[in-house]
Amino acid sequence: MSAEPVSIKARPCPLCGKSAVHDFRPFCSRGCRDRDLNGWFDEDYRIPVPPGADEGDDPEGTP
Ligand SMILES: [Zn+2]
Repeated sequence: MSAEPVSIKARPCPLCGKSAVHDFRPFCSRGCRDRDLNGWFDEDYRIPVPPGADEGDDPEGTP
């Protein structure tokens, strides 16, 4: 008796959990893949700037 699931090779989409499609691995569709890419870009562009970072070193401020 082999109780191994057949879907062991097909990983589910990390975003929605649906079975992934070969063309969009590891996602289930282009929508999920794009959403993941957008998420990455979002995090990339979100650079936290500590308050007061612009002050202190100001080469143009001192003549
Ligand atoms: Zn999905």
